[in-house]
Amino acid sequence: MAKILAVTNQKGGVGKTTTAVNLSACLAALDQRVLMIDLDPQGNATTGCGVFKREALPTVYQILIGRSTFAEARIRTEFGFDILPANRELAGAEVELIEMGNREYRLRDALSEARADYDFILMDCPPALNMLTVNGLAAAEAVMIPMQCEYYALEGLTDLVATLKKVRGNLNPKLEIEGLLRTMFDARSTLTQQVSGELEGHFGDKVYRTIIPRNVRLAEAPSYGKPVIAFDRSSRGAQAYLALAQEMLDRRDGVTRAVTEQGAEA
Ligand code: ATP
Ligand code: MG
Repeated sequence: MAKILAVTNQKGGVGKTTTAVNLSACLAALDQRVLMIDLDPQGNATTGCGVFKREALPTVYQILIGRSTFAEARIRTEFGFDILPANRELAGAEVELIEMGNREYRLRDALSEARADYDFILMDCPPALNMLTVNGLAAAEAVMIPMQCEYYALEGLTDLVATLKKVRGNLNPKLEIEGLLRTMFDARSTLTQQVSGELEGHFGDKVYRTIIPRNVRLAEAPSYGKPVIAFDRSSRGAQAYLALAQEMLDRRDGVTRAVTEQGAEA
């Protein structure tokens, strides 16, 4: 059964899409079966995987409004993982969903048939708490939060933690924090180091040990429609996302081992 993760942060431009695309490609490179869902009408994750937005119909939009099935909308990328694409049309879902029953759970329900086919389902959320993000959070088991270690980051996190609390209360009681990911990291900056330290102090083990450095190859890769491991595998950006994928697998397998051992004792 797939682990379903929402890559989310209400703050814009923190590396959500870069993380969703590159982590999908890196998990696939480590032999995981991965589905990435583009939940942002900007469609950046879609183009970043070499899928042309105009040709990419049907999209997650048709799934949300019940006009298409998961199997019809899924596309296999060149990079070993599947995607449910998005385009500008998805912005209309916001309005249309308001009138629909079960509107917060439409994505979750659509994914129930897909879950057995994957090890990981990663959702790239838009930088807003709208009905698309709400569908993502209702479908997810946990959130992955990319963030830049800058002055306002901790303040933004307080908002996000409050949001998650509300979501747990109203929509999805089991939603967890999978991890906080430090992105666009500049180790030379004292402020970055300071904020990073505070983050570890507040969130402890929830902060991934892997840090994503600021790396120009990560910014260049989307214009070639490629995840960075397919564009420049030796770059620091590619190596960092590979390390993150490995860290996630180690964590997952660590948990599995602990459960098995407990099971053996019982
Ligand atoms: P939005 O909130 O608009 O959806 P986002 O959180 O998805 O933004 P991205 O689109 O992933 O953020 O990143 C914002 C910009 O920063 C992009 O131009 C991206 O290429 C660049 N970028 C992301 N991560 C890095 C990095 N580690 N090093 C250098 N540039 C990066
Ligand atoms: Mg984005």
